[in-house]
Amino acid sequence: MADDKIKVTVLPTGTMHADLTWLLIDPSRMASASNPDKQKDWVEVPTHAVYIEHPDGKKLLWDTGVPRDWVERWGPTGLDQFFPVDATTEDMWLDSRLKQLGIEAGDIDYLLLSHLHLDHAANAQFWNGTGTTILVDEAEKEGAFGFDGYNKGAHIKSDYDGLDLTTINEDTEILPGITLLRTPGHTWGTLSLQVDLADSGTMIFASDSLYRSESYGPPPIAAGIVYDTVAWFNSVEKIRSIQERTDATIVFGHDPVQFTELKLGPGNSYT
Ligand SMILES: [Zn+2]
Repeated sequence: MADDKIKVTVLPTGTMHADLTWLLIDPSRMASASNPDKQKDWVEVPTHAVYIEHPDGKKLLWDTGVPRDWVERWGPTGLDQFFPVDATTEDMWLDSRLKQLGIEAGDIDYLLLSHLHLDHAANAQFWNGTGTTILVDEAEKEGAFGFDGYNKGAHIKSDYDGLDLTTINEDTEILPGITLLRTPGHTWGTLSLQVDLADSGTMIFASDSLYRSESYGPPPIAAGIVYDTVAWFNSVEKIRSIQERTDATIVFGHDPVQFTELKLGPGNSYT
């Protein structure tokens, strides 16, 4: 019976474009003496959320995608120019996804935020006042409120200001088979999500701890946005050790190639 198992639905929540250098500092793709006029790599950067139904009746959501009003909201940061949300269809916006699932924001028991960047926490205000438990890493919360003004890089304070954020400071099993892993480095407190499924085995949703398959390697390739490089490499090896122990499928944060290979959208679930 499907209802006896954890059910995971990966939801595309809007696609950006960006220069690959933001995501992958890869010497093989850089200009060089023999290739000084190298063309830019302007690549698709899909986002996703993950809807999880637990057999004990609880509903969880991992991340919230990009906002409909990205032009206005991201304009003051300048990042609208670097990460335009220009490949998103009407069915992808998070509010559309909730409707497709037949749920409202308040039906979610746990909102799990991998980190508070503008393409992950953008729609978190849907949960303002709903009573949903919103979980983030302790270090992420501290960093995300530790500046003055509208934004600091890709953190826009109004995305999460006023929310009742519950923090974790160690790897934490939220419900049986659903565990938040501390994988800092991309930001102060980026989290990954491990889900142990009956039929599909373990899945690790790495969010921006691993943007793309090339990020994972081996060897790992770092990105243009890494707050703490040493911590990032350590987090990649932490994920690798869990992957090797559990034979997990790793779902990368923004990999357009892997995205075409996943079951996506309502009705295409993993159990
Ligand atoms: Zn990020």
